[in-house]
Amino acid sequence: MTDRPTAVVTGASSGIGAATARALARSGFHVVLGARRVDLCAEIAAQIDGTALRLDVTDAESVTAFAAAIPQASLLVNNAGGAKGLEPVADADEDAWRWMFETNVIGTLRVTKALLPALIASGDGYIITVTSIAALEPYDNGAGYTGAKHAQAMLHRTLRGELLGQPVRLTEILPGMVETDFSLVRFDGDAEKAANVYKGITPLTADDVADVIAFAATRPSHVNLDQIVLKPRAQANAMRAYRES
Ligand code: NAP
Repeated sequence: MTDRPTAVVTGASSGIGAATARALARSGFHVVLGARRVDLCAEIAAQIDGTALRLDVTDAESVTAFAAAIPQASLLVNNAGGAKGLEPVADADEDAWRWMFETNVIGTLRVTKALLPALIASGDGYIITVTSIAALEPYDNGAGYTGAKHAQAMLHRTLRGELLGQPVRLTEILPGMVETDFSLVRFDGDAEKAANVYKGITPLTADDVADVIAFAATRPSHVNLDQIVLKPRAQANAMRAYRES
């Protein structure tokens, strides 16, 4: 075992989750990295003296086994998630919507429920949920994702009231455009479409977001940062960005 406090990061195999695992390790946490691609988690875990566990947040048994392997935890970063497709509501793909709600919403619910007793028992628990600026406003062709991120945000924000009196803090991280595999997943592996999302703009990096998460996680335990919105300088909102031609 370890003397370091334990932080659990879901979706730690790539992007924001992987960068967050590294940043939290630098801040003194023992990090448990969970994702379906456990081999990628294991590579990072080996570098940061952490622990890699397989996790599919859409599978109740997987979440139960994951939580059972974590005897104690003081920080949970609900990061696993993403988008599928970018179509108008008139052409919505039900399977893509189901994927987005299962992963972002029900997945966050399952992992939070499973780890909440350990977080409370730690005496200084903390839940950080990575939603998105998609949890603030609609954008054209994005209703499946904005709907799921709004629902995930409501789950998280509701806990802020329900857990009053318990030793658990809650921070919602709402990033704008971050260059990760997010767009590759959204466009089903179409690299050209994914690259176009970031054309003419300097997006946030996964490390930019991870820095903010590590900052929040290292405040004194009476300080609750409720919501942190971060965007590239060139992005005003989900619909409006300035692009160099
Ligand atoms: P990413 O590189 O595609 O990472 C997504 C992570 O989620 C991966 O580690 C993936 O791991 C994991 N994941 C997906 N389905 C999962 C499942 N069923 N069970 C467990 N893990 C699962 O994208 P990212 O940008 O870092 O996304 C991280 C979070 O930030 C997401 O919640 C996303 O919605 C949010 N976000 C992203 C942006 C952006 O512009 N990139 C902006 C705002 C918010 P496996 O595939 O190995 O399971």
